[in-house]
Amino acid sequence: MKITDIRATTVAVPLDAPLLHSNGAHWGRFVRTIVEVETDNGYIGLGELGGGGLSAEAAIESLRPYLLGHDPFRLESLRFALANPTASLYNNRTQLLAAIEFACLDLIGQHLKVSVSELLGGRVRDRVDFASYLFFRYADPESGDGEIRTPEQLAAEARRLKEAHGFTVHKLKGGVFAPDYELECYRELARATDGDALRYDPNGSLSVNQALRFGKEILDLNNDYYEDPTWGLNGMRQLRSLGLPLATNTVVINFEQLATNVRDPAVDVILLDTTFWGGIRPCVKAAGVCETFQLGVAVHSSGELGIQLATMLHLGAVIPNLDHKADAHYHHLKDDIIVGGKMTYENGSIAVPTGNGLGVTLDREKMAEYAEFYLETGNYPYDRDPGRPGWYPLIPNERWADPTSEQPTSMSW
Ligand SMILES: [Mg+2]
Repeated sequence: MKITDIRATTVAVPLDAPLLHSNGAHWGRFVRTIVEVETDNGYIGLGELGGGGLSAEAAIESLRPYLLGHDPFRLESLRFALANPTASLYNNRTQLLAAIEFACLDLIGQHLKVSVSELLGGRVRDRVDFASYLFFRYADPESGDGEIRTPEQLAAEARRLKEAHGFTVHKLKGGVFAPDYELECYRELARATDGDALRYDPNGSLSVNQALRFGKEILDLNNDYYEDPTWGLNGMRQLRSLGLPLATNTVVINFEQLATNVRDPAVDVILLDTTFWGGIRPCVKAAGVCETFQLGVAVHSSGELGIQLATMLHLGAVIPNLDHKADAHYHHLKDDIIVGGKMTYENGSIAVPTGNGLGVTLDREKMAEYAEFYLETGNYPYDRDPGRPGWYPLIPNERWADPTSEQPTSMSW
């Protein structure tokens, strides 16, 4: 099998409402670039990456000379051809490699007529459990719906998601408002969810002292883990006295950092992201290291449509030591670009696709519709807040959003 063509198409898929985070917001839509890798025996493998829009398309297109004629089975060769660690100092291609690795695994699976999870050692579970992922949100500017700003709105949304999808672990994406206000919200979330486990993730925005103070104030709650409360392995290490399990998707995202964390422990739970780590296979390898050193593991979400979700499901299916529920932004999406529409949650879990390869197929009509929507609405900056023009955060942050401020009226950049 040889690669004969690659294509990249950027789509924008609407969210229920704009999602706020410590660095800015997802402005009411996800912008994702869909990658198609075609082979000489007529298969099309699918990949996905986020954020860049047209520049991501150009970056994928620039790999054409590297990929044409390459055998998709030769995945380790691909790693060194695209992302040799020395060359990566000059051209950071980890996320591009991830999208191409997804497509190659999809091609191998289609060719051998097995699913990606069967290729990667075989499923130890057929469904992957998810936590609810709760964000502070602006109202959708058109409908006026979806705002989450107050503790009561947060609690209502958590109850709604629990009822709709069966979640029993709830994660609050924080780092938006001042820590005392978010503490009030987190405690209200605990009251609203009947003793379910909770996660708090302010994306490293608190100082060590703020993180210690916040951590002490939640010790009486059922905390699943405390995710990236402060920045850096050395910052996180200073929180170990709290006795709360510490998790990261920020400061252990490669094997060097994982080794450092094993030699001088800072975090307890490694959140494996199929994009940040450069593919599904590096995540499986990292999970093996975590198994050896008895570190916890979960599947991280960096924002996904169905193709990327499939990579997360296959990863979750093959890791025996997946001892925490996965995260997904997926339930915030209004639609998807795969045949059959959005995958569904049942009792907080999603079934691992069983078809050949990744087990998902592009819905060409949906893809065309959302490619058009992207051309209408364009990119948005992940690191800007539509409600605070010109704002950007510091680390540790001190420029918190004001929970009494007005809603932005536009979501265009
Ligand atoms: Mg996180």
